[in-house]
Amino acid sequence: MIVIENAAVATVDASDTYHPDGHVVVGDDGRIVATGAGPATEWAGPAAGGNDIRRVDGRGCLITPGLVNTHHHLYQWATRGLALDDTLFGWLTTLYPIWGRLDAGIVGASAGAGLGRLALSGCTLSMDHHYVFPRDGGDVLEAEIEAARRIGLRFHPTRGSMDLSRKDGGLPPDNIVETTDEALAATERAIDRWHDPSPGAMLQIAVAPCSPFSVTTRLMREAAELARRKGVRLHTHLAETDDEEDFCRKHFNCTPVEYAESVGWLGDDVWLAHGVHLDDEAIAKLGATGTGVAHCPSSNARLGAGMARVRELLNHGVPVGLGVDGAASQEVSHLGAELRQALYTARLRGGPTAMAAREALRLGTMGGARCLGRQDHLGSLEPGKLADLVVWRLDGLAHEGIDDKLAALVFGPPAPVELSLVGGAPIVERGELVHADAETLQRDAEVAHRRILS
Ligand SMILES: [Zn+2]
Repeated sequence: MIVIENAAVATVDASDTYHPDGHVVVGDDGRIVATGAGPATEWAGPAAGGNDIRRVDGRGCLITPGLVNTHHHLYQWATRGLALDDTLFGWLTTLYPIWGRLDAGIVGASAGAGLGRLALSGCTLSMDHHYVFPRDGGDVLEAEIEAARRIGLRFHPTRGSMDLSRKDGGLPPDNIVETTDEALAATERAIDRWHDPSPGAMLQIAVAPCSPFSVTTRLMREAAELARRKGVRLHTHLAETDDEEDFCRKHFNCTPVEYAESVGWLGDDVWLAHGVHLDDEAIAKLGATGTGVAHCPSSNARLGAGMARVRELLNHGVPVGLGVDGAASQEVSHLGAELRQALYTARLRGGPTAMAAREALRLGTMGGARCLGRQDHLGSLEPGKLADLVVWRLDGLAHEGIDDKLAALVFGPPAPVELSLVGGAPIVERGELVHADAETLQRDAEVAHRRILS
């Protein structure tokens, strides 16, 4: 058992219960036993059955649910810092030929660095959207799954795909796409091999054709059918830029959301990356169908794509999570920092009342759990839920004087992680990874970077 006391606790339960001085108790089964105000008096003595109790003094800290990352491309760690002043389409056109040299070694090293960085930034559950499968690149999906196991994160990689290349009117070059049949067959194999449907799953697979300008209509339709036949979730990029909207109007004679609807891609088993360029009708459709949005405010800013209408999405009941997006379109790759970026972006659009600190935290936790379909077991600190939680240290110089710990976390600079648990097991302690060595991850990522650019 683990008893954490003397800390502020933001539960993110349905009524946003917050204890300025409270406790969280984690059971041997990796689930939360109790949360509350004051000390954990019921667990003051030895544990029943003679098991050890680990006691953590959380003075100066805030306990929150672990952050959930709802959009990422881990392989992009190998190509950070390139095409720095481009739009999405310009950036992609520069990077596609480099990504054609990806292999399992590069993806594994990039995923190790990306997931290590995420863990140190308060993330306990991440998805990954991998859609580049060079013919002789080896098993890249297996490589990133191994990396997640090494770090200890809960992981939802998606089997992505592209089958619409330049010769057929798409954006990617011919050598980095698969055929439609290859993509569908490999996606089904990935689900059969890796997907764990159990409530406490550490590994789940989703189906994720890349975007309207890199995927055929047939692949979109049949990917949705496959996912529903298998009972897994669906993810894709949608409504990220004006260029994409122009592409959809030209090729499909409709908006991106109308296109998604026409191919069976609206529903409560779907979450869409970005959702920046949405009109009122599109937002109402997402709300009515329960379709989720992975909000990636830093990536949208880096590519100058625009600001998502998050306040309106929330007002329509759309599940909204946060994503760091790939490390090549957002070099910070810090999920904790995305809380503030989301709050800032909402306020730049809608003024100082457009988003509160507790709402930003909700996006980063329960909102993400809803996008990934894990809301019944993750996303809040409540008895019976999986003990994925973060103890943030907020008593250093950087946060000095901000008495409200939740305000310190969201408004202040990125906070160090004192302790992070996944299913009750520590993955970060005192700002260091428990199972991996950050210097080794960095060295391996450097080799991968040099190799893909050579
Ligand atoms: Zn993306």
